[in-house]
Amino acid sequence: KSDSTYDYIVVGGGTSGLVVANRLSEQKNTTVLVIEAGGSVYNNPNVTDTLGYGKAFGTDIDWAYETTDQEYAGGSSQIVRAGKALGGTSTINGLVYLRAQAAQIDAWEAIGNKGWNWKTLLPYFKKGEQLQDPSKHPVLDGSGISFDPAYHGFTGPLKVGWPSTQLNDGLAQKLNATYQNLDVPVQFNRDPNSGDMVGYSLYPKTLDYELNIREDAARAYYYPYQNRTNLHVWLNTHANKITWKDGHEAAADGVEVTLSNGKTTVVKASREVILAAGALKSPVLLELSGVGNPDILSKYGIATKVNLPTVGENLQDQMNNGLEFESKKSHADGKSADYVSYPSAAQLFPNSTALGADLLRKLPAYAAQVASANGNVTNASDIYRFFKIQWDLIFKDGIPVAEILLSPYGNTYSSEYWGSVPFSRGSIHLSSADPTAAAIIDPKYFMLDFDFEAQVQAARFIREVFNTEPLGDMAGAETTPGLSTVPADADDEAWADFIKGKYRSNFHPITTAAMLPKEIGGVVDTSLKVYGTSNVRVVDASIMPFQVCGHLQSTVYAVAERAADIIKGRL
Ligand code: FAD
Repeated sequence: KSDSTYDYIVVGGGTSGLVVANRLSEQKNTTVLVIEAGGSVYNNPNVTDTLGYGKAFGTDIDWAYETTDQEYAGGSSQIVRAGKALGGTSTINGLVYLRAQAAQIDAWEAIGNKGWNWKTLLPYFKKGEQLQDPSKHPVLDGSGISFDPAYHGFTGPLKVGWPSTQLNDGLAQKLNATYQNLDVPVQFNRDPNSGDMVGYSLYPKTLDYELNIREDAARAYYYPYQNRTNLHVWLNTHANKITWKDGHEAAADGVEVTLSNGKTTVVKASREVILAAGALKSPVLLELSGVGNPDILSKYGIATKVNLPTVGENLQDQMNNGLEFESKKSHADGKSADYVSYPSAAQLFPNSTALGADLLRKLPAYAAQVASANGNVTNASDIYRFFKIQWDLIFKDGIPVAEILLSPYGNTYSSEYWGSVPFSRGSIHLSSADPTAAAIIDPKYFMLDFDFEAQVQAARFIREVFNTEPLGDMAGAETTPGLSTVPADADDEAWADFIKGKYRSNFHPITTAAMLPKEIGGVVDTSLKVYGTSNVRVVDASIMPFQVCGHLQSTVYAVAERAADIIKGRL
């Protein structure tokens, strides 16, 4: 193996990596190697079970990254999960297939990424997708599912749809009626994947309807193509760092790996090294390879190849909390109810205009706080620009400010939720020149108070939903946090212990190798090439410049599809 040379080496056989490897290896004269630290999970029931969310957590296919103690969020650390397997995090995620609000992708272009907007990304969402039409499945009749075919692909590799286990007992319709009865109603949205997410919807998932199993990146983009002789995958192989050609220029010529037998070797790439190791690994691999902040690299004895101090900065995630209520009716096991509501600021905040004005005044201070937390590696005036765009998205474009899920199980209704666009930004950096050492991950959850306010207000909103008919009559007492813990009229302060004590990472880390102009802190350019290198790209969630309101995977798949066309020279 160590003698081999490939045209392209893709580091990380996960969600994005397998898309790019698949598309590049469509060209028969192009050789592609995928390096994946995990193994195959094709027959792992913790992966395939469509109702098995969480079963893989803490097992050997979960990286279970740990954050630093979170000083603005009660002081404890958090576990951020990510898949360690062929298929990456798509093998352990919640299957939810929800994109972004169109204006959010347009913001990628507005900040300086020419060519990246909703209109140019939509064809790639569709190219990857194979929507399984629910109208062909009588078991879903009357379930309330809807979609707009104009926004979907039907012939792509990735199966998307609603499961045969979909709850079909009228709850979806009752919930819809409840949302209409709110003081500020939230309307039914026929298709939240159309670029307009605000409203209440029944969302699709990445699954195979016929087989009732998870559809992950390996099942969609690798296994049906595994006989391609120009596409190789090395499982249980850990990438340690990029190797460089001799000379001044930063041109990659391979990757140092530790093979499954424990031996370390270098595999050569004649064209490009493509990082797809995820937002909590790709920036660390760059640092291990000498691309990053010289002050950090020198601490660990790593020579700087490319001085790019913002590698690992701008880390953003969301915070997930959950409320629970008793249900007067008992729900059968083995059903899934995939109901989401996306309120806008005007729907979530009773005083949205005043709150927006207040937030606008705070943005310069927020930006200064983020910049000073990282020693002004990112510039406060640049961060301010990002924040102002995010403010415009929230208060002018009306993107959703929270995501509220609802699922019934047993005698319970549970409602997980999160503020969709927190402002807090942290960082990830290596802690050692040892490539297997854990990185220092500090998302700075709840650093900026708007993030907490949105998280509190979404909890109040859920209480209102559960106090509105017809749901109000179907639900019993609130069991989490419960009115004795957080009283009905609790102020923000009274919510703090519950929210900061019980939240978890929403597992949506992004922006650690941001696609942005270099002068405002970018790590990759619009062709996803790392600044200062001639042939290293990043194609995973690290590159997203702003958080999206949907879940990440659909956008990760679409970005990777577009990346492949860029690498092929088609764009
Ligand atoms: P990954 O898919 O994580 O791929 C990275 C790959 O690189 C992995 O296979 C990893 O093992 C490999 N790797 C890392 N380091 C090395 C190394 N040094 N050498 C070799 N290989 C390496 N999104 C949704 O849209 N819907 C959901 O319902 C949803 N739920 C989620 C639930 C959980 C628990 C989690 C953790 C995430 C969830 N997400 C969800 C997010 C989404 O799945 C991820 O954002 C997305 O899959 C990330 O894709 P990626 O290509 O960036 O990274």
